[in-house]
Amino acid sequence: MRAAIFKAVGVPLAIETVPDPEPGEGEVVVRIARCGVCGTDLHSTSAHGYTLPAGSRLGHEYAGEVVAVGKGVERLKLGDKLAAMPVVGCGRCEYCRTGIDILCREYKGYGGGAAEFTRTAERGATLLPATVSLADGALIEPLAVGRRGVRLADPQPDSRVLVIGPGPIGLAVLFWLRRAGVKRIATLASSKRRKALAETMGATAFVVEGEGAAAEIEAALGGPPDIVFEAAGVPGVVARAIELVRPQGSIIALGFCTAPEPIVPAVALMKDVNLRFCIIYTREDFEDCARALEADAEAARAMVTETVGLDAFPTAFEDFRAGAVGAGKLMLDPWG
Ligand SMILES: [Zn+2]
Ligand SMILES: [Zn+2]
Repeated sequence: MRAAIFKAVGVPLAIETVPDPEPGEGEVVVRIARCGVCGTDLHSTSAHGYTLPAGSRLGHEYAGEVVAVGKGVERLKLGDKLAAMPVVGCGRCEYCRTGIDILCREYKGYGGGAAEFTRTAERGATLLPATVSLADGALIEPLAVGRRGVRLADPQPDSRVLVIGPGPIGLAVLFWLRRAGVKRIATLASSKRRKALAETMGATAFVVEGEGAAAEIEAALGGPPDIVFEAAGVPGVVARAIELVRPQGSIIALGFCTAPEPIVPAVALMKDVNLRFCIIYTREDFEDCARALEADAEAARAMVTETVGLDAFPTAFEDFRAGAVGAGKLMLDPWG
């Protein structure tokens, strides 16, 4: 089969022919229908830290169809359509019991979705409802990140909410805020590039960072935000969220920032701020997203602005890194 392989920082991905995957115990092989690209893929192929070893396969946001079933698999069968969590825990420890498998000490990574086929564990698989397409199913993983963040913030319809960074994670947050019926949602961005997309996904105001941005946000929301989502993942944004949030407000930090963040604790303390970091999702969030897509696939689909085949993928991936493709998500269709 063909797969996208990471070679080295600064070198485009290579499309190579590699052995077809075989299912191990408790595993299935999935024929990939779509695989999304996100900021984590960019980080892990850059020199920012958390860099993948050379030869790694990319892709952790995918949906596909089961084409081979390993020993001990009970719930899945050939032809099942699924989305899969990219990390699967032991299933027995206290962290696995919280549903957040990535906290498990023995977790195993299953990615490799940027390929024609990949292998995954039954434990990480969520079956797609019959009415959800494979293309939409690939949105479950990124939507689940937003799902948990919004769940932790528990916004009410009259909450004043700010989302910093309308990239893939920020868009997923907007999707869930809109579903929660939140009426006042401002988005803060470094440029106007994603304005139309953020508004389509549910933002009621779009503010470009700069002098006067705080006043603009307050005017749009009718006061300083009760809740700020940090979805930009660059240094300085948590500090900015502390500045912008109202006293006793909440900050949910979702951005994968790999550089030091210069916050002044006294500023946060003087406002009695509740700052919460949030690592991906629970298994239940993943399943909630599958159900949400049954009702709301069209709204979620707006996140996708570019779909390419494997041959075009390495170039599209670098264009995505440079911000030179569509404002939303880049998707791979390995058979397209
Ligand atoms: Zn991702
Ligand atoms: Zn565990």
